[in-house]
Amino acid sequence: MNILLLGSGGREHALALKMSQSPLCGKLFIAPGNAGTAQCGTNVNMGVSEFDKIRSFCLEQEITMVVPGSEEALVNGIFDYFAQDEALKHIPVMGPSKLGAQLEGSKAFAKLFMERQGIPTAAYREFSEENYEEGIAYIKQHSLPIVLKADGLAAGKGVVITSNHDEALDEFSQMIKSAKFGDASRKVVIEQFLSGIELSVFVLTDGHTYKILPEAKDYKRIGEGDKGLNTGGMGAVSPVPFADAAFLKLVEDKVIRPTVDGLSKEGIIYPGFIFFGLINVAGEPFVIEYNCRMGDPETEVVMPRLQNDLLELFTAVNEGNLSAQTIYTDQRAAATVMLVSKGYPEAYEKNKSITGIPQPTQDQIVFHAGTRQDGTTVLTNGGRVLAVTSLATSLSLALAHSVQTANQIEFEGKNFRKDIGYEFI
Ligand code: ATP
Repeated sequence: MNILLLGSGGREHALALKMSQSPLCGKLFIAPGNAGTAQCGTNVNMGVSEFDKIRSFCLEQEITMVVPGSEEALVNGIFDYFAQDEALKHIPVMGPSKLGAQLEGSKAFAKLFMERQGIPTAAYREFSEENYEEGIAYIKQHSLPIVLKADGLAAGKGVVITSNHDEALDEFSQMIKSAKFGDASRKVVIEQFLSGIELSVFVLTDGHTYKILPEAKDYKRIGEGDKGLNTGGMGAVSPVPFADAAFLKLVEDKVIRPTVDGLSKEGIIYPGFIFFGLINVAGEPFVIEYNCRMGDPETEVVMPRLQNDLLELFTAVNEGNLSAQTIYTDQRAAATVMLVSKGYPEAYEKNKSITGIPQPTQDQIVFHAGTRQDGTTVLTNGGRVLAVTSLATSLSLALAHSVQTANQIEFEGKNFRKDIGYEFI
């Protein structure tokens, strides 16, 4: 198979590595990629939503599968673009149709879908310019805390949780009247606050049947003890200790199966990953969000624990025989620690040279995120720079090994959290 993988983060390095290890892998291209993906295949200077360039490239290089890493290309309709083009329609895209990607692209769409399928989620109402005044009245009488969400994609910044009615009213007005997140906040979902521990569960589906991958928990705040600003993710662990067999059975029965059955019943074409952002409220799972792709940094703990050949699984999705597959999981614990640039998630500098990245072993791998190769030097090229993943017999050992390596790697302004998975250790 000749693969084109779209993206440039730690997630894409983890996916590229996993695919490159498959005997089914022919040529592997990553667009635009990073210094780590360049070790697994060939980087191509092309944006993930430059569909016309992607089209020509796929035809020239005889690509036989496209794997979008992030939501961007999917929400922009790359699946439909391929399906509707005579010359491309034989090339499978491992991700949902534009309609399926709305599970992530529109919170209102996701909420209505869950309502139709009876999937547990926070109670909510949807507001826009048309029923703005009703929204004001709704907020004033709503219990606190209250959750406001811009409907569309807002780079993880479109969610506001507040315990103050005036602040909620102000945010609501900024989102709808001042288009704080542009078109993404033309609609706003107002939600009941749920209190519990979060985790992420992933499945691979063909839209009718599914396979559950190892679960994970990520750590979004910049500071230790989950303090400070939100980031794309500062680390992750897998497995998640409170997600025992009984809880995961509830997740499967109440969330996963109804979701995949719902996609199938509603005729929503969905070959690819579903990421369930869940919260455990007194032992019951509720869906906080759907994503239409794997998480980053969760992929950096999930892929190292997945023992299957990923391309064999993707082929099974394509050929409609996913149900015949069995998922094999490394029983060790995995902990990822993300090394970030000083200042991130706010302004930061790039182009700092990185030294001390160790060679991968059976127990550890350093995935590249915001890096680029400059001759023989690797330079920082983003806020999140490297993801150190270690596998060990316990989570505390895995974390200790990742922290040790994070200490050894050097670049100016390096910052990382030493407490990933702290509540389980
Ligand atoms: P991201 O891109 O960071 O995944 P997002 O913008 O898609 O986020 P959500 O995942 O819906 O938004 O919400 C972001 C975070 O806000 C959640 O991870 C969770 O911590 C918190 N959150 C969202 N909805 C609720 C809720 N109803 N009750 C409590 N916390 C919530």
